[in-house]
Formats: sequence, structure tokens, C-alpha cells
Amino acid sequence: MSYQNEIKKRRTFAIISHPDAGKTTLTEKLLLFGGAIQTAGAVKSNKIKKTATSDFMEIEKQRGISVATSVMTFEYRDLLINILDTPGHKDFAEDTYRTLTAVDSVILVIDCVKGVEEQTERLMEVCRMRKTPVIIFINKLDREGQSPFDLLDELENKLQIRVRPLTWPINMGANFKGVYSLYDKSLYFFQVNKTKIEADVVEIGLDDEKLPSLLGERDAGTLREEVELIEGVYDPFSEEAYDAGELAPVFFGSAINNFGVKELLDTFCEISPTPQARPTDVRPVEPTEDKLSGFIFKIHANLDPRHRDRIAFFRVCSGKFERRKFYHHVRLNKDIRFASPFTFMASDKSILEEGFPGDVVGLYDTGNFKIGDTLTEGEDLMFSGIPNFSPEIFKELVNLDPMKSKQLDKGVQQLTDEGVAQLFTLELGNRRIVGTVGELQFDVIQHRLEHEYGAKCRWVPMNIDRACWITSDDKKKLDEFIRMKGNQIAYDKDNKPVFLAESEWMIRMNRENNPEIKFHFTSEFK
Ligand code: GDP
Repeated sequence: MSYQNEIKKRRTFAIISHPDAGKTTLTEKLLLFGGAIQTAGAVKSNKIKKTATSDFMEIEKQRGISVATSVMTFEYRDLLINILDTPGHKDFAEDTYRTLTAVDSVILVIDCVKGVEEQTERLMEVCRMRKTPVIIFINKLDREGQSPFDLLDELENKLQIRVRPLTWPINMGANFKGVYSLYDKSLYFFQVNKTKIEADVVEIGLDDEKLPSLLGERDAGTLREEVELIEGVYDPFSEEAYDAGELAPVFFGSAINNFGVKELLDTFCEISPTPQARPTDVRPVEPTEDKLSGFIFKIHANLDPRHRDRIAFFRVCSGKFERRKFYHHVRLNKDIRFASPFTFMASDKSILEEGFPGDVVGLYDTGNFKIGDTLTEGEDLMFSGIPNFSPEIFKELVNLDPMKSKQLDKGVQQLTDEGVAQLFTLELGNRRIVGTVGELQFDVIQHRLEHEYGAKCRWVPMNIDRACWITSDDKKKLDEFIRMKGNQIAYDKDNKPVFLAESEWMIRMNRENNPEIKFHFTSEFK
């Protein structure tokens, strides 16, 4: 197959949702259609339900599951589809943000009873920032949810994206009869069904006089009225607007009953983007370029404690990835090659000989990689758009066993390279501040330091609200500010100076008093 065709057949996307909306269930049904799994229940949820007090075995178990389901590849209608899994748990939001840098589109799952939830809003912010095309699946129509019109309004208001229904539900809950497809003018009948893959379909126009006999007089009437309203209120679906991340087509269904999933998948295959160009610090890289380039968006510790190597997830952005070929590691300025890169076909790992744009390649790593690292065939460029966001919780890491400080240093370094948390170092006394978006990470780090590195630590909470990266065109002013602020200045993993602010108010005041200093809320800025 030609290189161009290899690119054209690939679709790389993520399913995102607030926990419990049905992401795992939908993933599983998509894999069933793709023939990647044969039975329901084969996809394990990598949800962490417990909070900080959880027993640690649970965390270990979850980590195991999340390696296995990090990327799921399947074939459907001549396409090669890569689903990148994202943890739903809020404490792992950063992991999800980074995964979103490696996809070309997303499917967003909404629970029709709960509507738009907090985590959905935050995830959509990241999609909007990157103009990622979004398809929305409103799930659990077998339950009595909010009115579909209200749901659409809520989507537009809270997610700040225009929506366009492509199917329309006929009732909900116990009276749910199915959906009418506005694009192929067909009725899809709902039945409670966990094994059957396709719904019964009748192709029928809304004006057709047989409609009442299929749906009943009242429901047929309501459907006609509602569809008329929709066609009047919403612009026709535009693929360009979808590609630009401005318009989201909306589907209604019930993942657990396999209802609406095939229509979703078929439409996804038709409209979702092929592997796209990606920005770097030098120039955009097109997937069609013949030289390999790509970046690491996720690093996972190996669960086998006897093998300290890690798994780095590499997204191919251009060219062809080949086993045993030397590639240029831009940050370290050295050439490395990989003896056993692997793919994630049907969740069992197999050696990969060639990878194409859109693919995710698993690389065994002995400590060469950090998140965001770029591989090329020699060109000096780094993929951008993989920023760190300011953490929300900050604690000082205190070594409890001075005999083990080497182990502790190494452990903290590796765990923060993996992106479990962010590390900031205070100049004074080399104190280490760890920042995360959730309490759970502190437990994870403490546990892993002890079990994987043999080091013990404790946490001292810090009164810090936010970390701001600081820059200035005037180097002297920046140095002066850094000197003046003393212990409120720390350095991130790339040695960039960061201002640790106690409150929003502190940031505002410092901004006003130091107009020549710029305060940034992410680590990437122009
Ligand atoms: P995730 O946290 O987003 O991955 O959600 P899951 O896929 O684990 O689903 C959460 C719960 O909702 C599970 O108990 C599912 O069985 C249930 N669920 C998923 N889809 C449907 C649906 O269409 N209807 C109903 N009633 N329940 C569903």
C-alpha cells in the first residue's frame, strides 16, 4: 500500500467523558464492531473510584489495567482506528490533557440524565484550545433524562461549541422507541439488547403516511414537529465547521444496549479527520513528509519491579517509523534505536516493524524520555502544544531516610518525567515542591517511591494556589524580581523560573507592580 494510503486509512481519536457517562461501555461496543474483541466485558474500566484513603493495591491494579487499555487499535471498513484511552478521574486530568495532544479528533460522551458535568467542561476547554473536531454521543436514552432540546442548549452554553443533531430520539426512558436519523432518513428501533449488534431499521420519510402506524399517532406527530423545529433552528451540518472544531454533530443512543453505536461509528468513519499536521517550535510538520517525526505523550512505568524500564508512547506525526533504525532524540542530541517497538492491536502487544502517521508506538525506555520529547531523522525541532498547566495542590517533599537520598532523587526524577506530577525546586536549600491536580497523586508517588525505589518520604502542605511561569524581555528586571521574591521562586524540570503564588490576588498585585514581568499560566508561551 502506498504511503499516502497508509495515512488516509488511519483515524486516531480519544473518547472523553465525565466518569460514569459510559466511556468504557462505548469503547467496548466500538471494539465489538471492529471485531477486536468477541465478548462483552473484555474491556476493563481503568477507573479509580476510591479517594486518597484507598488501599494501594487498588492503585497498582488500576495502573496495570491502564497500560493494557492505553491504546486500542482495530480495523473497520478498511480503516485502521486507534482509540487512545483517557482516565476519567479528575486527579488524572493532566494525563488526559496530554493524550489529547496525540489525537486528531474526539468523541464526547454525555449522560442524558446528568447533562454536561464538570469534568466534561474542562476537557472541552482543552479541545477548544487545540481546535480538535468533536462528535457528541448522548448516552443512556433508556433512562428518563433531560429533554433533548435542553441538552443541546446546555451543550452549546457550557461547552461553547455549536451543535447539530444528526439523529433525534423518540421519547426516553421506559418509552424510548429509538431514533430518527436526519441524514439517512431512517427510523432505528430500540430494543433492550446486549448482544445484538444492529438495530432494526426502516427507511422512511417523515411525511410518509405509514409513520403513525410504526410509531403511534402521538409519537409520529411529536417527531415531525420536533424535527421541523430542529431543521429550522440549527444550520445544516457542515463538515468544514466540524473539521475546524466549531461544530459538533450530536447522536443519541444507549451504549450498553448497543444502540446508536453503529451509526456513530459509521459517521465517524466518514467525517473524522485523517492524521493532521502538528505544530513545532520551528514549523508545522505535515503527515505526508517523508522523514520520520513524532513525540512522546505518555510514559508508563513497567509493572514488573524487576524490570525498571518504562513504556513511552510515541505518536508518529510524519514519515515512517522503522524498527532498529536510528532516530535523533532532539533534547538529548543523540541517536537511538529500538529493538522491540510494539503496537497495541487488540490489547496484546506485538512487535512493530513499521508505523505510520497517526500510529502510536510503544517504546521500551530506560530513562531517556520525558513527556514532550521529539524524535526526528536529524532535524532540530520540538513538537509544541504539550504544555504543563499550573498544578492545583502543592506539597513539599521531605526525605525520611537520609541514607536513601540517591534513590529518592532518582525516583522523584523518574516519576515526574512520567508526568505523574510536576517538580519545582526552590533555590534556597534545594527544597522540592511537588505539584499535582489531585490528592491521589501524592499517595501514588509516596507508594511508588517506597516500593519501586526503596525511598521514604512525607508531605508538608504548602500555602500555594498557583504556579506562574515568569519571563521578561529585560533580563536584569527578571533577575531582580527573582532575587526579590526569594522563596517564592522555584525552577521547573526544564529549569524555567516559576513564581509560586499564594492567591490570585498575589498574582494580580505582582503583575501591577512589575509591568515588565510576564506571568504565564502554562509552561509554553511565545
Ligand atoms: P465510564 O466511567 O464513562 O467509563 O462509564 P462506564 O462505561 O463504566 O459506565 C458507567 C455505568 O453506566 C455502568 O454501570 C454502565 O453499565 C452504565 N451504562 C453505560 N451505558 C449505559 C446505557 O446506555 N444505559 C444505562 N442505563 N446505563 C449505561
